[in-house]
Amino acid sequence: MQVSVLASGSTGNAIYVQKGATRLLIDAGLSGKEITKRLSEIGVELKKLNGILVSHEHHDHVGGVGVLARKLRCPVWMTRGTFEAARRRFKGRERIRFIENDATFAVGDLSARAFSISHDAADPVNFVIEDGETQVAVATDMGKVTPLVFERLQGADMVIMESNYDRDLLMNGPYPWHLKQRISSTHGHLANSDSAETLARLAEQGLRHAVLAHLSQENNRPDIARATCERGLNGKRRHFQIDVAAPDRPTPVFVV
Ligand SMILES: [Zn+2]
Ligand SMILES: [Zn+2]
Repeated sequence: MQVSVLASGSTGNAIYVQKGATRLLIDAGLSGKEITKRLSEIGVELKKLNGILVSHEHHDHVGGVGVLARKLRCPVWMTRGTFEAARRRFKGRERIRFIENDATFAVGDLSARAFSISHDAADPVNFVIEDGETQVAVATDMGKVTPLVFERLQGADMVIMESNYDRDLLMNGPYPWHLKQRISSTHGHLANSDSAETLARLAEQGLRHAVLAHLSQENNRPDIARATCERGLNGKRRHFQIDVAAPDRPTPVFVV
């Protein structure tokens, strides 16, 4: 499987996944034009995409999904709750496919499994994508790592893991109190320390690669997120690859 995080953070999210002729996006939170540009930066033509998976209705995940769905005429998978909440983005011509939480469904040469997450959206999910040999899991936009989430991340060969904020930067930063509370609540986002702890537990079970994602531009820095993760991994860090996804450019294409 080939994977690149095209964009990550509150200004827009999109992840590219490919296996053979199956080329998917997980979320399309940038304009169609910007997604086309990011794909071309990793050598992929937009028109080759054949599916879009949508995690939840927040603008940074669905901003470009209506335009792309109409342009590509490809299926778009989401929960019914996400569809209802994002309904104004669709015009009725899109090929929407409803997914059940926790059900596995085939997407070309890949299979995907959606699992529920704790986030302030209608019916948000994350995905595990599998090609029969390897698994890639997405774990962003979550206020906490529930036992279900941890179970779904187990066995993944690569985890795209939210590392949204540094607790001190958030609490001492410029955000108003209600926003600080929202972000740090169990329906908000994960702190660097939460992410580090989760990755350390997964590393014990054999995980070897994490892409830190959805970093706040106000309340975090890539070097702090990485250092917190390395500290958490402690003795296991020598054989563990950490990458950090950025808002403004794609990661390299990882072969998983
Ligand atoms: Zn988000
Ligand atoms: Zn969100």
